[in-house]
Order: sequence, then C-alpha cells, then structure tokens
Amino acid sequence: MEGEEDLICQSCGMPIKNRDDLGIEPDGKKSLDYCNYCYMRGKFIEPDLTLKDMIETCAKKYDQMGIMPYKQAIEINLQVIPELKRWKYNFK
Ligand SMILES: [Zn+2]
Repeated sequence: MEGEEDLICQSCGMPIKNRDDLGIEPDGKKSLDYCNYCYMRGKFIEPDLTLKDMIETCAKKYDQMGIMPYKQAIEINLQVIPELKRWKYNFK
C-alpha cells in the first residue's frame, strides 16, 4: 500500500501491513479503517465487544505473539484504543 504504512485498525489498533488484512465494505471494497479480524462486509465481527474487552483481548494477543508483556500492552492500549474511531465515536 503506497504511502499508507502507518495504517492501523480503527477498532483494535493493530498495524495493517498487508492489503489482505483489510476489512471488507458491504460493496466488497477494502476498508481503509479496519482489519479483517474486526470488520467484515460493513459490520463489526463482534459488535457487542466493549472498549474494556478490546483492550484486554489485544493485550493478550500482544503477549501471546511476543510483542510485549501483558501489563505493558494494557498500558499502551489504554492510551491508544480509546482514541480509535470505533470507540471515540461509538460506532456499532
Ligand atoms: Zn482490527
């Protein structure tokens, strides 16, 4: 993706490095806001997920993937995730 290296999912905060990781809009186009773990065919895959759930789920994922320890991931996610579009504007 030219010039879009800083794209992060506006739901989970994961960097989207590959076009194949982008979510899909209802018309079949790629979403430039969300990853395909969060968003498919114009809808959130887990619409009832709360902000707290997302922060904890992502921290666990970062820990499991060896990116950073759980506690550190929680601290970062607490700052990053509430600022993402899904949570900031309370999209459903
Ligand atoms: Zn995501």
